[in-house]
Amino acid sequence: MPSTIGQPTLNEGVIVAGRPMPHFKRIEVEPITGAAGAEIRGVDLSASLDGETLAEVLLAFEHFLVIVFRDQDLTPEQHKAFSRYFGELTELPQAPIFPGHPDMQEVRREAHEPVTVVPFTRFHTDSPFLERPPLCIVMRALAVPKFGGDTAFANMYLAYEQLSAGMKEMVSRLRVVYSGKRIWQDNAKKDKDSQLRLREQHDFREEQLESTHPAVRSHPVTGRKALFVTQAYFKRFEGWSEEDSKPVMDYLQSLAYRIQHQVRVRWKPNTLIVWDNRFLQHCGIHDYDNERRHLVRTTVIGERPI
Ligand code: MN
Repeated sequence: MPSTIGQPTLNEGVIVAGRPMPHFKRIEVEPITGAAGAEIRGVDLSASLDGETLAEVLLAFEHFLVIVFRDQDLTPEQHKAFSRYFGELTELPQAPIFPGHPDMQEVRREAHEPVTVVPFTRFHTDSPFLERPPLCIVMRALAVPKFGGDTAFANMYLAYEQLSAGMKEMVSRLRVVYSGKRIWQDNAKKDKDSQLRLREQHDFREEQLESTHPAVRSHPVTGRKALFVTQAYFKRFEGWSEEDSKPVMDYLQSLAYRIQHQVRVRWKPNTLIVWDNRFLQHCGIHDYDNERRHLVRTTVIGERPI
């Protein structure tokens, strides 16, 4: 593939991820699907980034929502340093920590373990029950199956933009009650061999585990609107019964499953991706068996949804 670095734009009129393709000079950016995602080449994340390169990485992140870097053999400290370009790191009450690093989490399924140890193999947003849910996740692969174990993403700007005017008007008035209060009790009720791997201790207070957020949220800078509804931790819409809420929620959640909204990323060891947790939903695809999958991640705290 010829490098496009330093060449004039050849993307006049090209629309990708719902907007005109930006022009990049310092980094090579190759979109993955028409809906979201781009691979970035020409950046070594183990070193600090100069201002222009960083600005282009952040532009690619804003535009494509998930950016993929290959062959990034980072120490945990380098991983955290790169993550801080996106904002302040935060802990999560439920996600297991990466041993030795309380400000990093891990997603780990051993070769002998069932898929049930990993939460949310369906499309979801991470930790929407927090007052300030994550802005993004920076995740790096340590060990992945030879085939399979991709992560899929759905662009929720596109899901919103393609709704009819009447539905847009209705959802724009909805507020969603999310709660993470019952995760541990619910898990304890399951059979031992189908329990999730959860964090056992955290410093969050009970009232920090439930929040009400708008069903349509806006990007704080661009103002672009996206659907912010996920079945994960969903209780009900504010002012609605759980019974009335469910069919509407089920329909809105189904929009993430439309293939024209999606991208999926194939992992290799040392692949690092950054995804926007505000305007995308994601899910790990457990289409493999008898192999280890181990990913480490940081979580960047987001704004209160507006
Ligand atoms: Mn997740």
